[in-house]
Amino acid sequence: ASESDYILEATNLSKSFGGLKAVDNASIRVDKGCITGLIGPNGAGKSTLFNLLSNFLVADEGKIRFDGEVINGMPPHRIARKGFIRTFQVARVLSRLTVLENMLLATQTQKGENLLSVFLQPYKIKQQERENKEKAIAILESVGLLEKAHDYAGALSGGQRKLLEMARTLMTNPKLILLDEPAAGVNPTLINQICEHIVTWNKQGISFLIIEHNMDVIMSLCNHVWVLAEGSNLADGSPEYIQSNDRVLEAYLGG
Ligand code: ADP
Ligand code: MG
Repeated sequence: ASESDYILEATNLSKSFGGLKAVDNASIRVDKGCITGLIGPNGAGKSTLFNLLSNFLVADEGKIRFDGEVINGMPPHRIARKGFIRTFQVARVLSRLTVLENMLLATQTQKGENLLSVFLQPYKIKQQERENKEKAIAILESVGLLEKAHDYAGALSGGQRKLLEMARTLMTNPKLILLDEPAAGVNPTLINQICEHIVTWNKQGISFLIIEHNMDVIMSLCNHVWVLAEGSNLADGSPEYIQSNDRVLEAYLGG
């Protein structure tokens, strides 16, 4: 595959916390239009790698290329505006805002940067706000959260909070979404729904990189799977190949 086939390509990333090398010379690639998995035992460095990829943490070493552009050193909100957005292992929704307000938060930074136009073109701003609200409502309806639109996000179940965080990523027209354990702590019915949404969004052209311990989810969704162990690449390949790989099995059992 040539470089342009990848929406995301990170090479030789490293990150230490004190004496601990949480990510150690790891590389990963996400094919355009695909759903890619990232697995590995607890403490393997998966979440840290997500933080590096999205620049929530600055890598000690390595290079990150998103959609053909090197994004090292770019602040996360700028990366998000380019269409690269992520969720967190513990959903980051604001409990004391409503579900709808949480959706609209995603559009706030853009508004702030157009402060001048607030004065010059108040009509356009109002129109933008109306469009954002319509979009938020359409997305909430598509994920089955519309009836909760005016409830506080804090009143949602853990699984619904994860769904809300995912739904919110759609507000900014993403090209690539990183999901950190979307199925963890979620009931089986909602897991199935979340998987169906991911497939739908993928068919609409959004690429995914998903950290997940639930192997059914990984096997049913992913075209390609990367395995991380002790901060480094252990293997990558098709779900079938990964599932039958002795070194992968050993990493999990030996952990
Ligand atoms: P995973 O998501 O694969 O379970 P993490 O990336 O969360 O693994 O953690 C990898 C290692 O780095 C673990 O040993 C963890 O304790 C450590 N670690 C993660 N974040 C920090 C941090 N902010 N400060 C110190 N150590 C950290
Ligand atoms: Mg993690």
